[in-house]
Amino acid sequence: LFNHLETMPGDPIFGLMSLYAKDPAEKKASLTIGVYRDEEGKPWVLPTVKKVEKMIAEDVATNHEYLPMEGLQPFVESARDLLFGNPSASLTSRIGSLQTISGTGAVHLGARFLNDSLSPKRIWVSDPTWGNHHAIFDIAAPHVEQKMYPYYDAATCSLNFTGMMETLERDAQPGDLILLHACAHNPTGIDPTKEQWKQIADLCERKHLFPFFDSAYQGFASGDVDEDAWAVRHFVSRGTLELAVAQSFSKNFGLYGQRVGAFHIVAADEAARDKALSHLIYLQRAEISNPPVYGARIVAFILQNEELKREWEQDLLIMSGRIKTMRAALYGELKALQTPGSWEHIVNQNEVDLYEILEISRSATKTDIKKAYHKAARIHHPDKVPEDQRAAADDRFKDIQQA
Ligand code: PMP
Repeated sequence: LFNHLETMPGDPIFGLMSLYAKDPAEKKASLTIGVYRDEEGKPWVLPTVKKVEKMIAEDVATNHEYLPMEGLQPFVESARDLLFGNPSASLTSRIGSLQTISGTGAVHLGARFLNDSLSPKRIWVSDPTWGNHHAIFDIAAPHVEQKMYPYYDAATCSLNFTGMMETLERDAQPGDLILLHACAHNPTGIDPTKEQWKQIADLCERKHLFPFFDSAYQGFASGDVDEDAWAVRHFVSRGTLELAVAQSFSKNFGLYGQRVGAFHIVAADEAARDKALSHLIYLQRAEISNPPVYGARIVAFILQNEELKREWEQDLLIMSGRIKTMRAALYGELKALQTPGSWEHIVNQNEVDLYEILEISRSATKTDIKKAYHKAARIHHPDKVPEDQRAAADDRFKDIQQA
């Protein structure tokens, strides 16, 4: 019965990963799949996650009952608050959220829901984008034409913002969806600046495009959860746009295999939100019935406790800081070996370097960390810190060091 089938190609990234695993070389480094590794190249269970796992294991009230179809309520609410920055009551009444099978499940559920509810003709995705975006839309919204907007300029290893805007201005039609990476664009690592995000939001408003954000790296990119959510929050703050967000907790909590995620819809008003949510729950029932409980419990536990949340933010800084240090080391080595080509983009893909922050103790407060950002930015990107702020940043950092 199945002999007529053509063999489907495997996913190239997972293919490379299995080749890597088989390679006996002692000095090997994987630059393939986006999973965090520690100094020894080993998976890193975040200390805060480990701590909470113990607490959950010892809690006699823990059970393995089904979750409601929308997911674990404390998780769904904390996920929403983390993304939208503790939204006001009036904004909250416009947001419909439910737990999904991580970011992939959120994109999938969103694709199917937007396909069914808005009947869009096209979706615009960046060229290039995360490979699975294409596959998910192929499967969940097969009649929506996938169009690419220019994004990466290979000649300069930077964002082709002019090309992106010109193409969308010319060819995007009212009602089209546009997929945007909330931060740490995959695979290029290049994000629009805040000024450019404002222009993209203007364009969505003017041309009546529906923004669908994929937020897979909040806090993992810059080390600051608010900074990494800036684009989503800006779009929402305009009050004129309705939008959707797929949210993943794989990277920022290191919970890859637990499949923790959420899908959020920001509707025009509460009544529209409620209707949208009822359709999402209907889809959820048919697709997975009830989302998995374990990882969601961990995330909710951490995000709902101020102290644990602060500890988790330190874990985030360790991960994002190490990534930046590794980039700097790779860049340095390429330069030292006089490798032909320009390699600045390896270090320039990040806004702020965090070497200094790594030296801050785990008990530092968020304000301390923000102050340290000024210092790090001053050292590594002095052009980004206005002259008159440099001395002040220096003084502030001295205070931290003495504290
Ligand atoms: N979106 C993007 C852009 C990603 O890079 C990833 C992970 N590679 C995901 C979504 C989904 O990841 P997960 O399903 O593990 O949450």
